[in-house]
Amino acid sequence: MPPDPFFAGEGFDRADHLRADPAAIASLHDREETRQLVWSDGAPAVDEQGRLRWEPVEGSPPLFLGFDHGSPRFSALPDGDAPSTAYAHFQLLGLLDAASAPTFAAALSLANWHRRHGNCSVCGRPTEPNRGGWSRICSACGSEHYPRVDPVVIMLAEHDGRLLLGRQPQYPPGRYSALAGFVEPGESIEAAVAREIREEAGIAVRNVRYLMSQPWPFPNSLMIGAWAEALDDSLAIDTNELDDARWFSRDQVVAALRKDPEAVFQAPPRSAIARTLLEHWADGLK
Ligand SMILES: [Zn+2]
Repeated sequence: MPPDPFFAGEGFDRADHLRADPAAIASLHDREETRQLVWSDGAPAVDEQGRLRWEPVEGSPPLFLGFDHGSPRFSALPDGDAPSTAYAHFQLLGLLDAASAPTFAAALSLANWHRRHGNCSVCGRPTEPNRGGWSRICSACGSEHYPRVDPVVIMLAEHDGRLLLGRQPQYPPGRYSALAGFVEPGESIEAAVAREIREEAGIAVRNVRYLMSQPWPFPNSLMIGAWAEALDDSLAIDTNELDDARWFSRDQVVAALRKDPEAVFQAPPRSAIARTLLEHWADGLK
């Protein structure tokens, strides 16, 4: 069985019941086993084994992540801008240990939201972290704001045993991946899948099926993996979105996943849900 998507999984105990109790959270700072996350270049730091780096707590870090095997875990808000894409952290993602990935995603996504939402969207005045960092509150108008998650559909369109994959301009040479796009207000997952494939490749689809999901902390996305049946294979590519899009056979997908020297394209890296979707399809997903 292929693995779950990278970044997916529970990772740690989020201890939601403590978030409304600032005194209970503060009492955890003094425990010997309490740790706070180390940051480097705007992202959680990892050691040579790819594990997250932690250090003893200093002061009162505003983000209470929860518990890892009973040990309280906090984070300060990192300095600097939120990384807007994964490409700036490509080497880090290659090194990151899969077991640390869910905590990495939660901490980075939460910190990204704080870095970009310092002002109230209702009245424009500054806001402060609240509920152990799982909301922000405006002292001027009292509005409470919760961390946002932006849904993105990412999908395999299949026609007659072949898959539609595309190339975005920023991809490394030879890379092809699943088409993707943000879900728009007032749109279902199924409608977003059909619209994105039609817009980017000129293909109509039916029978959209949900497959799996993945948090993607660049900066706050939830990737929703889907499969759809294409009604024909005649492509009309939107060159504003894609450099290219093509149909690939199962043998070609398997060769790319195996990094076969004869492979006709380069598969996405293990941190991308697109790779997990291809692994499941190659394993017999229909
Ligand atoms: Zn306000």
